[in-house]
Amino acid sequence: MSISHIEHIGIAVKSLENSIPFYEKVLGLKCYNIEEVRDQKVRTAFFMVGQTKIELLESTDPEGPIGKFIEKKGEGIHHIAFAVKGIEDQLKRMEEQGIMLIDKAPRKGAEGLDIAFLHPKSTLGVLTELCEDKNK
Ligand code: ZN
Repeated sequence: MSISHIEHIGIAVKSLENSIPFYEKVLGLKCYNIEEVRDQKVRTAFFMVGQTKIELLESTDPEGPIGKFIEKKGEGIHHIAFAVKGIEDQLKRMEEQGIMLIDKAPRKGAEGLDIAFLHPKSTLGVLTELCEDKNK
């Protein structure tokens, strides 16, 4: 398995505007990008911590994945994302090992990364994302 690092940690929040000040004023991080991912029905705000990002996720639609998550569980950690090499091969290998895939093939996520989610039923309850930056 070729995980190089934790690419980001996804945190569901009700409002980016109300959440960014905690990360900037209390933790002293800098929000370097805000981006809407229509496909996921979210707006995202990014902070860099070493080579790992914090990705705040605000729902743009109550029926979207983050809208439903917040309704069920409230704000909090939503997923963990690992940076991998050869995402297609990794998905194939995991499927062969019996892991349930949410995405059988990678799709485009925020910041132009290729991403795919593994089902939390197969990952000890943690929604797990694989990411690959093919521009690197
Ligand atoms: Zn993510």
